[in-house]
Amino acid sequence: MDYRKKFVVEPGAKVRLSKIDPRFKGGHESHDTAAREIEKNLEHMAKLQYLLYADANQSLLVVLQALDAGGKDGVIRHIFSAMNPQGTSVFGFKQPNKLESGHDFLWRAHVRTPGKGEVAIFNRSHYEDVLVVRVHKLVPESEWSRRYELINDFEKMLHANGTRILKFYLHISPEEQLERFKQRLDDPSRHWKISETDYAERELWSDYIEAFEDAMERTSTKHAPWYVIPSDHKWFRNLAISEIVVGALEDMHLKLPRATVDCAEIRQKYHSAEAQEQHSHEQHNHKRRKRSKSER
Ligand code: AMP
Ligand code: MG
Repeated sequence: MDYRKKFVVEPGAKVRLSKIDPRFKGGHESHDTAAREIEKNLEHMAKLQYLLYADANQSLLVVLQALDAGGKDGVIRHIFSAMNPQGTSVFGFKQPNKLESGHDFLWRAHVRTPGKGEVAIFNRSHYEDVLVVRVHKLVPESEWSRRYELINDFEKMLHANGTRILKFYLHISPEEQLERFKQRLDDPSRHWKISETDYAERELWSDYIEAFEDAMERTSTKHAPWYVIPSDHKWFRNLAISEIVVGALEDMHLKLPRATVDCAEIRQKYHSAEAQEQHSHEQHNHKRRKRSKSER
């Protein structure tokens, strides 16, 4: 199944998250049957990232958004860990600090975008400025409502500079969220992840859904599409995202750059000399051994 086609938010289309099943599993019954496919995608991703880095002409920006416990951290750990840390960056968007809030809302995002040959992963993103900011009325509507267009212009500019943009909304059900919160409570090694605001934010579920639907409707474009990923099953989420990332990297038609030097000449110049050196070195050692033997 082509998950890019299946889960993409077509530009201009209405988004109704209640119509999308967060428990969707595709043709798979369980993680067991999907595991091989996920593994294959990860291997493929690693190879393509190597080409992206070597080619150093284009870049990839991945935006991860979700409600709390939606699985953003899990996607980074399980999927993007397949890539070489050299050439990859992850940035987690927290409440803006003083320096950040002294600038326009895109400033902190812009400095974290990938350079040529790089992959950048946004754990939350500039979209928080039309999500949490809207839900909690941190700025007036007259301000946040203008941001969709500013975001579209920003992403268009990045795309024009050779950056592919993939935006994922990890779609979980409220029941699955509560279950994940409970698992955190039951596991002392994950207690640090729990905050009371997580529970308070649950009360605002429908406000967040509305804000997400609006954001995706207004900012899913051909050059920076949103994908709604059914994420109640973590393994399915990993399968779908890894496949979409592989597809996007394949579309970049990445190739190893041509060598900038004459390899045959270099081999002849340095390595044949090295072979000769090695040979005379061995001969020298041989003679020495013979000499010391006859001296004994
Ligand atoms: P976490 O992802 O659990 O580390 O939490 C980060 C927190 O920062 C979340 O509650 C976000 O909603 C919040 N956050 C991120 N960006 C912004 C922003 N632009 N304005 C206000 N809060 C934000
Ligand atoms: Mg949190």
